[in-house]
Amino acid sequence: MTSTVYATRGAVAVITLNNPPVNGMNHAVRQGIVAGLDRAAADAAVKAVVIIGSDRLFSGGADIGEFGTPKTIAEPSLWTVIDTVEKSTKPVIAAIGGVCVGGGLELALGAHFRIAKPDASIALPEVKLGLLPGAGGTQRLPRAIGVEAALNLIASGQPAPAERFKGTALFDEFVEGDLLDAALAFAEKVVAEKRPLKLVRDIKVDHPQREAYFQFARNTVRAVAGPLPAPLKCVEAVAAAVGKPFDQGIAVERSLFMSLMGSPESRALRHAFFGERAASKIPDVPDDTPIRKVAKVGVIGAGTMGGGIAMNFLSAGIPVIVLEMKQEALDKGFGAIRANYEGAVKKGRLSQDKTSACLGLLKGSLSYADLGDCDLIIEAVYEDLSVKEAVFKELDKVAKPGAILASNTSTLDVNAIASFTKRPTDVVGLHFFSPANVMKLLEVVRGAATAKDVLATVMQLARKIRKTAVVAGVCDGFIGNRMIEHYGRMAALLVEEGATPWQVDKALEKWGMAMGPFRMFDLAGNDIAWAIRKRRYVEMPHIRYGKCADRLCELGRFGQKTGRGWYLYLPGNRNAIPDPEIEEMLAAYRKENGVTPRKISDAEIVERCIYALVNEGARLLEEGIAQRASDIDIVYLSGYGFPAHRGGPMLYADEVGLYKVARRMKEFAANSGDNFWTPAPLIAQRVAEGKSLT
Ligand code: NAD
Repeated sequence: MTSTVYATRGAVAVITLNNPPVNGMNHAVRQGIVAGLDRAAADAAVKAVVIIGSDRLFSGGADIGEFGTPKTIAEPSLWTVIDTVEKSTKPVIAAIGGVCVGGGLELALGAHFRIAKPDASIALPEVKLGLLPGAGGTQRLPRAIGVEAALNLIASGQPAPAERFKGTALFDEFVEGDLLDAALAFAEKVVAEKRPLKLVRDIKVDHPQREAYFQFARNTVRAVAGPLPAPLKCVEAVAAAVGKPFDQGIAVERSLFMSLMGSPESRALRHAFFGERAASKIPDVPDDTPIRKVAKVGVIGAGTMGGGIAMNFLSAGIPVIVLEMKQEALDKGFGAIRANYEGAVKKGRLSQDKTSACLGLLKGSLSYADLGDCDLIIEAVYEDLSVKEAVFKELDKVAKPGAILASNTSTLDVNAIASFTKRPTDVVGLHFFSPANVMKLLEVVRGAATAKDVLATVMQLARKIRKTAVVAGVCDGFIGNRMIEHYGRMAALLVEEGATPWQVDKALEKWGMAMGPFRMFDLAGNDIAWAIRKRRYVEMPHIRYGKCADRLCELGRFGQKTGRGWYLYLPGNRNAIPDPEIEEMLAAYRKENGVTPRKISDAEIVERCIYALVNEGARLLEEGIAQRASDIDIVYLSGYGFPAHRGGPMLYADEVGLYKVARRMKEFAANSGDNFWTPAPLIAQRVAEGKSLT
């Protein structure tokens, strides 16, 4: 089957786009459209041309498989295709059913006529990749639907129902029934009525308060765009559509597009886009690996994590049974689940009906026997290996053959947990993040024995519950937490050396992190990291920790939950208030330890904390704990508030230049004597080869 099909139906030539899965405008499709148009032009019996996809899909736009390859712009480029459509002396009709996005919409905008099914939807989503529509979309769409409606679509990238644009030049007609039949009838009508061929590019476009409107648009867009340049460039491109003749506007669009294509922000967003797709693939688990059916889920433990984990499945329509040790614990957990759903209803995020449907799928139990018909059982009990052992031994007795047994452990050895059962191949780690019903990230921890179909099943299930799943090997902390430990360690060392917690937080937040490390510690509970450090002092005495964090915990300052941590918190308020007592505590600590405080620059704060992520990330990569550098970036982007426009720690290191990063690490090693700063062998190797991490 070719990616476009040419056929004639009476006097109408039909070019059907047929490039699964999304009718992407790849080189073959572009060639096919131009060849079809040429053939129609040469055939005297053809009086009109219809370009059509299926009833559900016109085109999803650019073919992402071609992204970044010379094929993206290989002739015929999309510009050439659209030009050929516009120059056709026979009427060209775009017949749009379902999704019409990006380059697909730009192609349709080049046609003389457009008809659509009422349920069609359109979008120009390029801004989401840090770009703008580069094939005339910013010039033609304002002419078709008006400046404001077009800018809203282009600067947001959001889809809109086609019917919203009824009565505009975007659609000549909305049609019911079979799309091809309707398109043929429309084409015959155009021919019979000898309708003049009209082009969107010839439509006059203006705005009654042009200057004021664009100023307003710039201000509004700037406020929401943050560090991303693309949304503002969208405004400039649309402003050119209004202020300049069409061809000059196109030149502006093209030059803005090219400048964005080379911007680090767009590289970061494209890296994340492809990284997310790559993360769902496991090299030795082929796409056709059989999937186990998961129709019922069991969750053990109705605490902080268990409740949130259960909600994910309930919201996806999968029945859940939650097991607890005592009725009170179950009641408490169910109360929290109900409160969460009710909160969502109050905020208008969920309907009462949906909430009732979700809660209708929830059951509780105090007996393991009730888990016998579950296809997947996720354990979220206390973080204690002996407790996990007892739980998995029970599970081994009651779970049906083929049931997947998962642990939500954050730090324990998944292989050890698997060994508590006689079926280690069915055991996997599913590391959700708190709050588990909200956070996108899911680390799928692959044990030494985890079966391939178990992995394939949980990866597919992750999509169903709308999580971004990343595979990690077994180690303490997996990907995310093993790296964050060193980031946090650097933050604590920085305050020992002379910075304040608020300076460190501000520097990293200004750089783009959603939350500085000290606010993060206070949110997570300082006691948790303290417990880990106590273990580390024994297991890894050579690693340097900022002991001032221990002093904080000795004072009972565990963070938000105790109203005091690195900051002060007023009752019922999460605002972090700098506390002079902390400065006094730090001053006393430095004095006792003979540390002369020094002024530390914001740049050093960012380098020490972010490069710590980079170095540990590289170690994870060479140990095979992470499958690929982009997986590490996806973990940080989706689970740790890493700024989207920086693309994750690994891409950031590449953007700075791995050579420079490695040099800085060596300086830190020399200054601090901390072995951690010896660049990971993988970094040293890539630097030597002149290669990057991603
Ligand atoms: P939690 O203390 O809030 O909840 C644990 C629940 O398990 C309690 O309700 C307890 O009654 C129940 N429980 C204990 N033993 C049980 C047993 N034998 N049978 C049935 N129920 C039992 O703990 P949590 O924060 O929800 O953590 C649970 C797990 O998730 C731990 O392994 C933890 O490391 C992991 N985790 C926690 C977080 C987090 O931020 N809290 C994040 C990721 C992973």
